[in-house]
Amino acid sequence: MLTADERQRYNRQIMIPGIGEKGQAKLRRAKVFIAGGGGLGSPAAIYLAAAGIGRIRLVDHDRVELSNLNRQVLHGDADIGRKKVDSAAERLKKLNRGVAVDAIDDRITEDNASRLVAGFDLIVDAMDNLPTRYLLNKTAIEENIPFFHGAVYGFEGRAMTIIPGKSACLWCLYQGRVTEGRFPVIGVAPAVIGGIQATEAIKYLTGIGELLTNRLLVYDGLNLEFSHFTIERDPNCPHCGHPGGQKKE
Ligand SMILES: [Zn+2]
Repeated sequence: MLTADERQRYNRQIMIPGIGEKGQAKLRRAKVFIAGGGGLGSPAAIYLAAAGIGRIRLVDHDRVELSNLNRQVLHGDADIGRKKVDSAAERLKKLNRGVAVDAIDDRITEDNASRLVAGFDLIVDAMDNLPTRYLLNKTAIEENIPFFHGAVYGFEGRAMTIIPGKSACLWCLYQGRVTEGRFPVIGVAPAVIGGIQATEAIKYLTGIGELLTNRLLVYDGLNLEFSHFTIERDPNCPHCGHPGGQKKE
């Protein structure tokens, strides 16, 4: 059961119908993998830590640069030149010392992806490039771990939740297309989308609400509109389409 401190700390969310102390205990038991400690990873990690997720594993291989600071709110001026995972871990521990943080300074590759995510309850896609997102999508499906996609561009963003074996995946959505290069971002765009990813993660872990599966949420900050697009599973999808090929034997 929860400690007296936990009851007090999480009081406002324990009040939410469907969460209660049981839901809070589920969050405490949860292990969340966050791929990337940048624009999306910052708000996602901050709000998941604040919500009382028991263990957060954050993987990133970059160092903090001045040009990151308009949006990557895990890091500040004093962190420039530090490893992002170091300043991220420090910030998260300062926010909530009850959260165990594994900060891993590494690049996510074909060779290490399965090992890095093993044993985690869900994966938050906070990457900045499609090739690594596809790799995580494929790994999530193989390992049967829910995958929470988010992406931003300028004042815009999008999000979709992928439940392996049940809903359309990232490949079904983008069909293997790849975009590259530096793209513009206002910091509030990943704040919105990272917040939505954290919302979905909390809903999944506590088992409440309707997940953002088989639909893409598109956020347009300039016109302040949210739109949904139905996404269907592609039976020929190389990641999720082959029956029997979805899980490792
Ligand atoms: Zn698919």
